[in-house]
Amino acid sequence: MPSSFTHAFVGGAIGKMYSEQISTRRIILVSIFLSVMPDFDVVGDWLGAAPESMFAHRGITHSLLFAAIVSAIVPRLVARRVEWFSPLWWRLYSCFIISISSHAILDMFNYGNLGVALFAPFDDTRYFFPIRLIVDAPRVEYFIQWRTLYALVWEVSIVWVPLALYTWRKEIMSWMTGVFVRTDFAS
Ligand SMILES: [Zn+2]
Repeated sequence: MPSSFTHAFVGGAIGKMYSEQISTRRIILVSIFLSVMPDFDVVGDWLGAAPESMFAHRGITHSLLFAAIVSAIVPRLVARRVEWFSPLWWRLYSCFIISISSHAILDMFNYGNLGVALFAPFDDTRYFFPIRLIVDAPRVEYFIQWRTLYALVWEVSIVWVPLALYTWRKEIMSWMTGVFVRTDFAS
């Protein structure tokens, strides 16, 4: 699996992209939480679900239906004033559904034993993308290993850096402008 840090980072960046319109730190925190949430299904593994079952890892909680239902409920939990199907509700809904789905998309780019049950509960086929860009980060029990470090560095280079450059492009541009202006005056 990609590391939880990468899922969380992607969720945070998605929340940040939306936070200009909704203007609250809560959106970012909720997006981070939602982008990690599908992996709570490891509980199913601990309880003895068969690996290919929908209740095992990468099963129902990684499906599009799960993403659609959770994203519909969460806006009302985040702020009571959000009316169902109001423009703000739709904005939050789209932010949250992208955050949760980002999890399954990252997993599908990953070398794991089993793919993602994207269309559960209607279809229990496990899906992968044809290209697997993300190496498998070992689970928590093997946390401190060179392989983990290698997986993390790789995830940071192919996911975090490009996404951060895009998400914080305004901040980066204004910082760079500041640096160059200062250099101009100094010379
Ligand atoms: Zn996952």
